[in-house]
Amino acid sequence: MTDLTHLQAEMTEWRRDFHRHPEFGFEEHRTAGLVADRLRAFGLEVETGVGGTGVVGTLTRGTSNRSIALRADMDALRIQEATNAPYASSHDGTMHACGHDGHTAMLLGAAKLLSEEGGFDGTVRFIFQPAEEWGQGALAMLEDGLLQRFPFDEIYGIHNMPGYDVGQFRTRPGPVMSAEDTFEITLTGSGGHASRPDKTQEVMVAACALVLNLQTIVSRRLSPTDIGVVSVTEILSDGVRNALPGTARILGDTRSFTPEVSAEIETNMAKIAAGTASAYGVLAAIEYRREFIPTVNDPNLTKAVMKAAATIFGQNNTAELREPISASEDFAQFLAHVPGCFMFLGNGKDSKALHHPEYDFNDRGLIHGTKLHRAIARERLPIIT
Ligand SMILES: [Zn+2]
Ligand SMILES: [Zn+2]
Repeated sequence: MTDLTHLQAEMTEWRRDFHRHPEFGFEEHRTAGLVADRLRAFGLEVETGVGGTGVVGTLTRGTSNRSIALRADMDALRIQEATNAPYASSHDGTMHACGHDGHTAMLLGAAKLLSEEGGFDGTVRFIFQPAEEWGQGALAMLEDGLLQRFPFDEIYGIHNMPGYDVGQFRTRPGPVMSAEDTFEITLTGSGGHASRPDKTQEVMVAACALVLNLQTIVSRRLSPTDIGVVSVTEILSDGVRNALPGTARILGDTRSFTPEVSAEIETNMAKIAAGTASAYGVLAAIEYRREFIPTVNDPNLTKAVMKAAATIFGQNNTAELREPISASEDFAQFLAHVPGCFMFLGNGKDSKALHHPEYDFNDRGLIHGTKLHRAIARERLPIIT
């Protein structure tokens, strides 16, 4: 049996080292190198460069041909760290503000534990993906033949969750995280002198009206039982203080939990943009992009995971999320092909929010993540005697 206290100390060291050397999406060369070296040292078969900087470790025990995948993400964000931690980022303007340093360390810990202890029958794939924050890394691995080269029947991923105590487990069957689409609407008229709006087709008033009109998509176009968010986040114009703008760009982002709602938002946005522009005598052009698809958990596998979680965290600390979360996750791309479950572990009640410059992964959570990975492997690849 592996000494878990020792493993916890070892993982803390790994995690803090990743934290000190954060790398942006598809640039995780150092991180991926360390991951691959450790997996090899644990005796796993290792493939690097899968979908750019992705790493896949394979561990087989017994004779079953069943297999599951456990996944972690490795990338950091372009945020200037303000934690003052002794292991704070040494790369100016880049930081692990989403806890992917912790996810990577806890999955490495699980690889070590499972390679030493076994206790399952079949194959476990350890997937370390690049570029989660961009929503590009999972797709890159899939396009590089992940499912054909390293087949697996099910896939599981863990994310830390600020606001919940360490040792708290949450997930839910069905939609668990939202789709994210982005949009850019360009209004075009003709700029002119600020003193003669009557002689120009200026776009500022139209842009302001459009921002308000877009708010009616959720309140007046979606069914009351559907969930959606439409947020305008930027308005950029070519006007100056005493000249009316001839172009304005309105940018923002939308969230939804089904492809139908995403399509509904896009259709209504196009109608409202065209209608509003026409009412003000200007033109509208719209670009609508799908960045993240919704993360949807398999109901049966979610049940199995909750059962495994309850044995580690206790029934009281294992609960279903009442609502899906309106943030997005690249793990959704794997779930679009293979059934599985995405789940959350508390990062502490006082933890700063994800993507906050003072956020830090809670090292006390590492061993929980490792135990959860191990429990899932044993629950889903049982040794039948
Ligand atoms: Zn993030
Ligand atoms: Zn994240």
